Amino acid sequence: MSTTLEAPSASSATEQFLKQQHKLLINGDWVEAASGKRFDVINPASEDVIATVAEGDSEDVQRAVAAARKAFDTGPWSRTTPSERGKLLWKLGDLLEQHMEEFAEIEALDNGKPKAAALGGDVTLAIDMFRYMAGWATKIEGNTMSLSVPYMPGEEFHSYTLQEPVGVVGQIIPWNFPLLMAAWKLAPALAAGCTIVLKVAEETPMSAIRLGQLIQEVGFPPGVVNIITGYGETAGAALSAHPDVDKIAFTGSTEVGKLIVKAAGETNLKKITLELGGKSPNIILPDADIEQAIPGAANAIFFNHGQCCCAGSRLFVHKKQFDRVVEGISEAASQIRVGPGMHPDTDMGPMVSQIQHNRVCGYLESGLEEGARAVVGGKKTGDRGYFIEPTVLVDTQKDMKVIREEIFGPVVAAVPFDDLDELVDSANDTQYGLAAAVWTRDISLGHKIARRLKAGTVWVNCYNVFDSSLPFGGYKQSGWGREMGYEAIRNYTQTKAVTVHL
Ligand code: ADP
Repeated sequence: MSTTLEAPSASSATEQFLKQQHKLLINGDWVEAASGKRFDVINPASEDVIATVAEGDSEDVQRAVAAARKAFDTGPWSRTTPSERGKLLWKLGDLLEQHMEEFAEIEALDNGKPKAAALGGDVTLAIDMFRYMAGWATKIEGNTMSLSVPYMPGEEFHSYTLQEPVGVVGQIIPWNFPLLMAAWKLAPALAAGCTIVLKVAEETPMSAIRLGQLIQEVGFPPGVVNIITGYGETAGAALSAHPDVDKIAFTGSTEVGKLIVKAAGETNLKKITLELGGKSPNIILPDADIEQAIPGAANAIFFNHGQCCCAGSRLFVHKKQFDRVVEGISEAASQIRVGPGMHPDTDMGPMVSQIQHNRVCGYLESGLEEGARAVVGGKKTGDRGYFIEPTVLVDTQKDMKVIREEIFGPVVAAVPFDDLDELVDSANDTQYGLAAAVWTRDISLGHKIARRLKAGTVWVNCYNVFDSSLPFGGYKQSGWGREMGYEAIRNYTQTKAVTVHL
């Protein structure tokens, strides 16, 4: 592993954008926070301030929800046809495509991820998401039913269901894929006809602000998408507790997910979908193609610096292959070039913030104190910026914090196994159930294990494969509901049954 610290500067479009006076998008206008407060946005590679943004809180959330309510109930959006909604979404995808480089740079500077990864991953997937959901806007259908009504013999009825938009939706997103998470949330909600108050993560507000500018350029009516930059405990909490918000869609920690459920329970029982943490098992069976599985396991944990809720952080390897796999993945880790996201040679950027950096360092210290051993990595690196060495731990025990809790950093624990049934039990021995993977040449066995793993996503002989059509979400405490695919549309509609007596 090597660390490079000097990075080329961003394009003039990105520089110009960052210099703007960034405000909140409420009712189609960019406005200062009611309090007048602003906060700094930090480049995690250099610790420099790259921009300042308005600090929205409760009063701004009130204004944004009122705008979204008006847009939903009586504004032009309430009369927009499905086809028009689809066209707007498609246009947004096109416009985003025209600004791909700029968005990739914004993500590199704001989140820290390599620009190439943002370009090929985040931005490309976000464009695809808007286009995919554009197609669904015209395909949201109900059913017709033949009734029997046993206590009304001889009577005839015509019954059908409508899939109606759920209403005003509060969307709260995290910092690990800032633009992509905004796209995952906005696209299905807009396809379904909802209006939105989007609360972006305080660490990474910039790409959503730029997206807000494109949303205006495309011509979504005022109040349909409102964007609040601000803190979770203030703006996020106000949104979750707001009595006129019909639904919250949240991605983030399980801890905050529980707070949102509580807030909804204490106010208006708003609908909730949650995409939460993970501690995903990645399983290498004795017959696996090791040449494929080793880089696969490295990608599973080190992609996006391990800041993925589905990161393959528990690597189960059959005893027969254990030493070879540990050696291979450690070698892969040591080859990773750690540096600023804007540097073209960077494979892995910094942790997103000082807080996240401290949290990951804390886990490393606790793991090593409890008796785990770092074959490679194990500590922070660099003089400035929030960098962590890609780390492979061995000699862990199942009750250690590094095995039980989500680290959200580039740290994998490799665990040997012998018996297949015990392996499945160990893999499922977690409060989480977001993702899992199995590497094997025996496809039938791969399918069988996929059925036994308690996770919303199972990859066989691959990892981190995402597509707009593939539902993504959690079993157990990894969440409620699914993102992407038609299931996401269902999260933003509700069923109305209409019965006519003939
Ligand atoms: P992390 O700990 O990894 O930053 P969080 O779950 O705290 O993840 O953050 C995810 C999102 O939830 C962010 O947009 C954050 O501002 C928001 N958030 C944090 N605390 C709350 C809260 N009490 N209520 C609502 N949203 C919150």
